[in-house]
This record gives sequence, C-alpha cells and structure tokens, in this order.
Amino acid sequence: MNIETLAIHAGRSIDPTTKSVTAPLYLSTTFEREPDGSYPQGFLYTRMASPNREMLEDCLTQLEGGEAAAAFSSGSAATMSVFQALSPGDHVIAPLDAYSGTTALLKNVMMPWGLEVSFIDLTDLGQVEQAVCPNTKLIWTETPSNPMLRITDLAAVATIAHQNNAICACDNTWASPVLQRPFEQGADLVVHSTTKYLGGHSDVLGGVVIAKVEDDRFQRIRQIQIAGGAVAAPFDCWLVLRGIQTLPYRMRGHSANALKLASALVNHPAVEAVHYPGLPDHPGHAIAAKQMKDFGGMMSIQIKGGREAAFAVTAGVKLFTRATSLGGVESLIEHRASIEGEGTQTPENLLRLSIGLESPEDLVADLTQALDQAVVEK
Ligand SMILES: *Cc1c(COP(=O)(O)O)cnc(C)c1O
Repeated sequence: MNIETLAIHAGRSIDPTTKSVTAPLYLSTTFEREPDGSYPQGFLYTRMASPNREMLEDCLTQLEGGEAAAAFSSGSAATMSVFQALSPGDHVIAPLDAYSGTTALLKNVMMPWGLEVSFIDLTDLGQVEQAVCPNTKLIWTETPSNPMLRITDLAAVATIAHQNNAICACDNTWASPVLQRPFEQGADLVVHSTTKYLGGHSDVLGGVVIAKVEDDRFQRIRQIQIAGGAVAAPFDCWLVLRGIQTLPYRMRGHSANALKLASALVNHPAVEAVHYPGLPDHPGHAIAAKQMKDFGGMMSIQIKGGREAAFAVTAGVKLFTRATSLGGVESLIEHRASIEGEGTQTPENLLRLSIGLESPEDLVADLTQALDQAVVEK
C-alpha cells in the first residue's frame, strides 16, 4: 500500500462498539480483569500498553516499513532509550552536528553513565571508518542535519556499521517517512520526534523508536519504555495519529514552498549562504536526490554582517514567527546559535527556517522585506 493510504488507514479501524469512524480516545489508566484474572484485550495498565498508543505504534511501524515501534513522551526520551539499550563501555559514533539536545544527552547523561562517544563528520566516510573501534555498537545518523542541512549517505554508513558488527540508527525527524525510508537504506532503528512533522501542528510533544526487526534489542527498548515510564499519553497519541493523516500532503507543500523560498533567497544581497539540499549546488544534493523523495521544509540561511544583522532580519519578519521547533503548518524563524548556547558550532549569522504551508509568495515577500530592511540598516 502507498504511504498516502497508510497515513490514513494504518493502525485504525472502525470502533466496533460505537461504529465511530475517528479513533476513540481511551483515557482509562486501568482495565478490568476477567473473573479468572486474565486480560483478553491485552490491556491492564496504561504504562504497559494503551489502546491509543498501540494504534500509533502500529501506524508508525507501517509508515516506516518496520516490525515494531515504541512511542515515548518526547523525541529525546525515544533517543535516550536507544542509548540505554547499550551497555556501559560500549562505543557510539555520532555526528558533530547532531540535534543539540541529542549532543547534550550524550555528553551530560550517557557519557557519565559509561558510553564512549566519538563525534565526527558523518558526511566524510573515511572519518566514519577511522572512528570505528572494537567496542563500537552503534552509529547514530541524522540527515538532513540540524541546522546545517548536511546530508549523510545512509546506505554507506549502514554498510560500515554492519561490516563492524554495529547497528545504524537514523533520526528521521526532519525528512519524515514520506521523504526518506532509512530501513530501505540499511538502517536498523529509526527515531522520530513526533513533535515535529508527524504531529504537524505544534501542539503535541512525542517520540518513537521503530525497529526494522523485532529482535532482542527492540525488546530491550520496549522494557526501557515500560519500566522507565516515559510513555506517550493517550491524548498525545491521538493527536499525533490525527496529524499523520495529512502528513504526505503536508510534506509536499513544505518541500515545494521551501524550494521556492531557497531559490528566491540565494540572490538576495543580504544573504551570504542558503543551506537547502534541494539547491543543485548544495554539497549533499546528489546524495539527497538519491535517498530522499523530496528535500523537505527545513533550511538555514547565513546573513551578511554577522549576529546583529541576523537578529535584524528576525526583528523585521511579520509573517514568520520567531520561535524554535519545526514541522508545524506555520513558518518559524530562529537565531540558532543563541538557542543552542555555549559550545555551539553554529555560525552566529545563521537563521534556521521551518517553512510552513502558507502561500509561498507571501513567505518570499515577508523574508525579502525583512532582508531589504537589514541591508538598509547596515
Ligand atoms: C526536536 C528534535 C528532537 C527532540 O525531540 P523532542 O520531542 O523535543 O524531545 C530530536 N531530534 C531532532 C532532529 C529534532 O528536531
């Protein structure tokens, strides 16, 4: 079945008791036992499993083409479960420009816990091969990367992982399963912050780990989900599942709008650089074209004149909202270095844009007038 159909039907069925077409919301934390003590529906307590969570996990499993999924209360909780499923003393290879929350999680929580981590440039396959150690168990990928939109060759990195008895996990948040299918490129685990494109409306926090194979490693992740308790709440699952129904069409709109905007911005005199993998001269364009269906709704731009000029542009927008996060229907703009804080590698003149579903002409006009203003002020 194609993804437009799966997005609407996977994990859902007509409710047998009421015939409600839309999934009911089951808020009950506990479920009645039969007189013999059994649970014929399989539900006993919401932390273990819940009807809405099961629907969402089933849907996400099918969207990515895996065998099982575990839904968490945030993308970071999902990410952490993958690291916690390793053992102290294991070695992880992670990208230098991983999502800043993932970098902080590795440095501040998982390294003190005992993981060894090498942060490298994953777009350089020579560096990946060199970074592999005898105790390397996991290569963590994130492509397109945040906020530089660097493209990692997923198939090549997964091959290196497997040649060294390690696994490859992909944070697929920015592409979504509509634009990128990491399991088809060899990845073993896919992680999403469902807060972003899957939810799609900036009104719910969530995360998921999807496994290509329902093996012992996935059982360990399931155990961490249940025992740790950072599970996705019923209403949150309901919201993400509702958002997913329009995901394939939203991703088309985000991608088309972002390409129009990127193409319009490259020649603006106030712009030093536009980072968008859909532009033919982007260094990762060829690999992105090979492993992605389209180039997505995220981009970053560098403004001539440094930090002050970048802030002048954010001050001048009228339609874009100055806020962090991404993947919602509304366009967002943010000065990324100041969000990432101390130790950030992000250039001070960089603005990250999440391109929404407004009219592309209106978005181009808004950014152009803000950039024009920045040129005048200089
Ligand atoms: C937002 C984000 C996360 C973290 O997800 P939360 O839901 O905020 O915990 C992880 N990876 C990427 C790429 C993200 O954009």
